[in-house]
Amino acid sequence: MAVDPDCIFCKIVAGELPSRRVDEDERTIAFMDISPATRGHALVIPRAHARDLMEVDPEDLRAAAVAAKRLAERMLRRLGADGVNLINSCGAEAWQTVFHFHIHVIPRYAGDPLKLPWVPAPGRPDQIAQAARELQGP
Ligand code: 5GP
Ligand code: ZN
Repeated sequence: MAVDPDCIFCKIVAGELPSRRVDEDERTIAFMDISPATRGHALVIPRAHARDLMEVDPEDLRAAAVAAKRLAERMLRRLGADGVNLINSCGAEAWQTVFHFHIHVIPRYAGDPLKLPWVPAPGRPDQIAQAARELQGP
């Protein structure tokens, strides 16, 4: 499997960096974004390193899309979200900052103030942990 030793998301896959994991399957893992745009914001990534949408293996892309849908369903059912944004940024000009392919799964709440692009700011660890507990498990 492709690994980039300098990639923070590869380190999260390997467990070398901590993350709040909320879902996994053979090809993907999902974990909470450290700077959530809204309560429950998660990221789905393939286990294999690929820089971006142009480089990701088609089977990994399929698996990541299915995983994102799985998480979106949980956000609606468990977090009380009213909608979900799936966002992928491909290239620095498109706001990509971590160059390991990922899909943002961002729960949306009626009347929430989120505008795109959001400005990342560290979330409160206790609030991220609580949302992770609600999203974990099938
Ligand atoms: P991008 O800007 O590439 O579309 O998204 C990268 C996302 O990764 C950002 O929303 C950022 O908050 C998140 N992120 C960056 N570093 C870490 C980290 O070490 N752990 C977690 N959980 N999220 C991270
Ligand atoms: Zn990587």
